[in-house]
Parts: sequence; C-alpha cells; structure tokens
Amino acid sequence: MAVERTFAIAKPDSVKNGHLGEIITAIEQSGLKIVGLKMTQLTPAICKGFYHEHVTKGFYKELEDFMTEGPVAIMVLEGENAILRWRELMGATNPEKADAGTLRKRFGANIGRNATHGSDAPESAKFEVSYFFNAFEQM
Ligand code: UDP
Ligand code: MG
Repeated sequence: MAVERTFAIAKPDSVKNGHLGEIITAIEQSGLKIVGLKMTQLTPAICKGFYHEHVTKGFYKELEDFMTEGPVAIMVLEGENAILRWRELMGATNPEKADAGTLRKRFGANIGRNATHGSDAPESAKFEVSYFFNAFEQM
C-alpha cells in the first residue's frame, strides 16, 4: 500500500464545541501526519463546488447551511492507506451507527451535524486537497 494524502475537515460543530484539539490529537495518535492545516469559513459557492456530487440531493440545503455557519479547520493528512484510515477514525456518516471511539460517535450529533469530513477515494482526495490547498501550503 502506497503513502496517500487525504483531505479532512473539522466541521463547524466541532470547532464551535471546542473539539478541534481532540480531533487533532486523535489524528496524531493514529499515526497519520498532518501536512496541511488552516482555518477558513466556507461560502455557499465554495460549498457547492466542494460537495458537487451532493448539490441535487434533498439534504443539500441543510448541509450547506451547516457547513457555512461558522469556521472550519481543514487539513491534509498523509500516511500509508491514509484515505481509509481517516475514514475509519471518523466512523460512519451517521453518528448513531458509528463505532465506539470514532470521532463521529464522540462528537457528532446526527447524520447532518457529524463533526468531520474525509475523502472517500483517491480521486476525491486529489480533488478535495487541491480545492483548498496549493503546493506551498502542503509540507
Ligand atoms: N448528509 C446529510 N444527510 C444525509 C447524508 C449526508 O446531512 O442523509 C451530510 C453529512 O454531513 C455528510 C455529508 O452530507 O457527512 C456528505 O455525505 P456523504 O454521503 O458523502 O457522507 P460522508 O462521506 O461525509 O461520510
Ligand atoms: Mg462523502
């Protein structure tokens, strides 16, 4: 398995509720390396571009309202099999169905407000990293 990079967000609920430090700690303790990190706040246009695969879905408006409601921390993570490892650390999309100890179980409130984002495949990881980070912002 090759070294991969993946894209992560500590969503607005995580930042607002003061869970950013714990999320970063969980990432570091898992052995994944943070090679890019910054704070930003999504606009509706940026959110639509990022979640392009979801814009036609019924939950999109609620998702956009949530994702733009406050600051987020965005990260590039690196490691062997990083895409799957970060998804496993986050847990299932619905916190109710997420395994104990996962970030979404610990910090997510419901399927919408679920604490974190992670890329789901090499192609989406590549797109999502480059959507938010230029070459000078990744170590
Ligand atoms: N989402 C939602 N309702 C749903 C499915 C998804 O509000 O029924 C939100 C949720 O915040 C989720 C995001 O939309 O994290 C993207 O959905 P996706 O299916 O890609 O889940 P993920 O890849 O984030 O686990
Ligand atoms: Mg997804």
